[in-house]
Amino acid sequence: MKNAGRIDGRTQLIGLLATPIGHSLSPAMHNLAFEKLGLNNVYMAFEVGNEQLEEVVRGLRALNIRGYNVSMPNKTTILQYLDELDDSARFTGAVNTVVNTNGKLKGYSTDGSGYVRNLREHGIDLKGKKMTLVGSGGAATPIAIEAARAGLAEISIFARDDQFFARAKENVRIINEDMKHAQVKASIYPLEDQEQLREEIRTSHIFANGTGVGMKPLEGKSVIEDVSMLRSDLIVTDVVYSPAKSRLIEQAESVGATAINGLGMMLWQGALAFELWTGQEMPVDFIKEQLF
Ligand code: NAD
Repeated sequence: MKNAGRIDGRTQLIGLLATPIGHSLSPAMHNLAFEKLGLNNVYMAFEVGNEQLEEVVRGLRALNIRGYNVSMPNKTTILQYLDELDDSARFTGAVNTVVNTNGKLKGYSTDGSGYVRNLREHGIDLKGKKMTLVGSGGAATPIAIEAARAGLAEISIFARDDQFFARAKENVRIINEDMKHAQVKASIYPLEDQEQLREEIRTSHIFANGTGVGMKPLEGKSVIEDVSMLRSDLIVTDVVYSPAKSRLIEQAESVGATAINGLGMMLWQGALAFELWTGQEMPVDFIKEQLF
């Protein structure tokens, strides 16, 4: 009989639970990696919202599948259905990866560690450095937490006066109080105070945008109003990867700063989840070459 494809009776499923889901790059990324490494897994995306989540988690546990990614709107709702949380998930209050070990479900957040790992791939070590970060939503929160855990000396968080401001305060509290051993000092400032922003960036090694400013519908916009806030020995990172060159990345390049967009963070959050499920390293360079 002809081989009808690589799926057989032993193929293990890895899932993604989110809605909307059609735009996700994760299935292409993980399936390509499984194929490249000859792993007998398949990655499938499932349109799941908060209403179905509990039942879906129960069903997947019964099927004993190895794990899954969780994206919006399920990243915080999922916490109550899991048996255990890694510190990455506990401190951020969100989960993007679930691993099933003998029926026990453990939640992780690999977004922040993906950010840190991508910086390391660029030869940047956060130990002893100061970061100024804008935002406190789903992308900025794990960046703040994992950068602090990776050894930052100081982090200044700027947040707009909106529904995310309380989370910015909570991130600062967690870093200063719950992560005392990390010896990092966190401060919070209103984003409206551009002069304070200028001052914090002036004394920082890294400036990070953790907001969607620069991406549709805010394409062409930047959290930096005046490019003279940036300088050539600054590292500027953006969570935005579409467009590949956001306004902030263009501003950073125009002053000769090191400019890193959000693609690497996105790839590495996937690669770290892949490693948690399979115990193997994702062939990141190959994936980048094939998909981006
Ligand atoms: P979110 O809705 O959870 O948070 C949005 C954040 O942006 C909040 O802090 C909010 O205060 C701030 N914000 C929104 N509009 C603003 C404005 N006009 N000025 C200043 N601040 C503003 O969203 P999220 O999930 O954190 O996503 C933010 C961006 O990060 C999106 O562009 C998303 O595509 C990107 N993202 C990238 C990765 C990656 O791996 N590179 C991962 C997750 C999200």
